[in-house]
Amino acid sequence: MENILQNKLSIEKSRAGRRGVRFESVQKHAEGYLPKNLLRTSVPHLPELSEFDTVRHFTRLSQLNYSLDGQFYPLGSCTMKYNPKAYDTLSVLEPFASAHPFAPESAVQGTLQVMYELQELLKEITGLAAFTLQPAAGAHGELTGILTVRAYHDAQKNGSRTEVIVPDTAHGTNPATANMAGYTVVNIKSAADGCVDKEALQAALSDKTAAVMLTVPNTVGLFEKDIREIADMVHKAGALLYMDGANFNALIGLAKPVDFGVDVMHLNLHKTFAAPHGGGGPGSGPVGAAAHVAPFLPKPIVEKKDGVYTLTGEMPQSLGKMKAFYGNIAICLRGYCYLRQFDANTLKNIAEKAILNANYVRAKLKGKFNAFFDENCMHECVLSINPKEMNGVHTADVAKRLLDYGFYAPTIYFPLIVPEAMMVEPTETESKEMLDAFVDALEKIYDEIQTNVQLLHDAPTTQPVARIDEVSAARNPNLRW
Ligand SMILES: *Cc1c(COP(=O)(O)O)cnc(C)c1O
Repeated sequence: MENILQNKLSIEKSRAGRRGVRFESVQKHAEGYLPKNLLRTSVPHLPELSEFDTVRHFTRLSQLNYSLDGQFYPLGSCTMKYNPKAYDTLSVLEPFASAHPFAPESAVQGTLQVMYELQELLKEITGLAAFTLQPAAGAHGELTGILTVRAYHDAQKNGSRTEVIVPDTAHGTNPATANMAGYTVVNIKSAADGCVDKEALQAALSDKTAAVMLTVPNTVGLFEKDIREIADMVHKAGALLYMDGANFNALIGLAKPVDFGVDVMHLNLHKTFAAPHGGGGPGSGPVGAAAHVAPFLPKPIVEKKDGVYTLTGEMPQSLGKMKAFYGNIAICLRGYCYLRQFDANTLKNIAEKAILNANYVRAKLKGKFNAFFDENCMHECVLSINPKEMNGVHTADVAKRLLDYGFYAPTIYFPLIVPEAMMVEPTETESKEMLDAFVDALEKIYDEIQTNVQLLHDAPTTQPVARIDEVSAARNPNLRW
């Protein structure tokens, strides 16, 4: 039975004069110190509640949301996996948390050491020559990477290179980045197998091409199997190969991008490396470069000289700074803990399990929900719903119905090249039992589609808020209590 009182809104529970603890001395203090014209003359119109009621109100609110710590969260392309809580504790240890960005290097050797060693670890797992930890997100990493490409071409007096080629299986931030960096975006269609169409690429490449941006694995969850050949084509045209490595969970310990011929790439620490993506930030999108492009990365980079860690500003060809100070250090610290915790074999195992789990879900659902590209996938599988074969049910209906079964919805309507896409990324940290329960829920939903389609159109029916008009909610948000 629902407790009716518990479900009342805070405004309904309000009683005149009810309040929490009052600190009279603080009140007096404020009256003495703040200018009279800044003091309130009337009491604000807020619900009047006891402290206990307030605690219950906010605790309840926090539980109304789906969360990674509460539910399976297969949000494709976000790598919503479990990360040890110990890293959260370590990353806010006092010496790190209280380090002042203007502190002399001698006073922050510990922080600099962690940054240096993280740079080294990222170099090791990618094979690249140098890394900057400055970028604050994946998209910011892309911009940093493409501006690094620009600085490289400028130094070669290659200023006539004005185009960046982006396949239609790239993440949406790729063309946006190229555009923001001042390049003309040249889109190319992918082949029937979901990978780059090499003929289309060849036709687009010219002495105007500055870079080709490849998302690897691409947004349909597939590995670019001809990436080595593609890299050769790109280099032959005098361009650089940029890899969007935001979804490195599929490759960590398994493959080094330097072996594919990648010149510049970014990683999302807030996906693979101990911070989930969906939390709304902060993030960290380190950018790595091969030796010939490394001098153009942002500065400073942390160096080690005679056992002392130092921020080197001696990079005359550097594009400069991309962020105030040095990056989101607390996220870097989590990434550092993550990479220090596991040996090479375990890292490989992470990627293999992530891939296995995605393929398990794909294979189990085959026949009911079709994979758009019927191939082994990497860390995520992209399912597609055909409303004509599904009694008029759309992907959004299925996603909403999943909420009723206690699962967060996968990423939907992305990637754009798959109609009615549903992108499931289970990650390596979910158990077989959880994957089975998820598959089971989708199978039940499939049966409902055959027998009681209204259930899907009405979903969700068990959540605190029913189906909302998402456009109006975004355009005219009602933010009042
Ligand atoms: C998540 C993601 C990004 C963007 O990362 P943000 O930190 O959200 O800016 C870029 N590319 C790919 C492939 C991604 O999955």
